[in-house]
Amino acid sequence: MASQTQCSHLDRIRDVEPKTPQGCEECLATNGWWIHLRLCLECGHVGCCDQSPGKHATKHFHKTHHPIMRSFEPGEEWGWCYVDELELTPEELQR
Ligand SMILES: [Zn+2]
Ligand SMILES: [Zn+2]
Ligand SMILES: [Zn+2]
Repeated sequence: MASQTQCSHLDRIRDVEPKTPQGCEECLATNGWWIHLRLCLECGHVGCCDQSPGKHATKHFHKTHHPIMRSFEPGEEWGWCYVDELELTPEELQR
């Protein structure tokens, strides 16, 4: 897996609706705060990034093993596969 350059999880991407478009699901529930938001492309979970205190996007991956997220920030189109630890282009995310 170390020298892999292609994500093998692109077929897990769904046409998801953000469940909580107003912010991180867990932070909203606990009155927390976040810096950046990430969208799970398998179930539509919205979680906060690793610079945020809650790190809920990464925790969502550890809990669910949904491999692929994308940035939920306006104007940002990159994605990330947690399993392969690869950045994904907008073209790869296009399904
Ligand atoms: Zn992958
Ligand atoms: Zn959060
Ligand atoms: Zn998910």
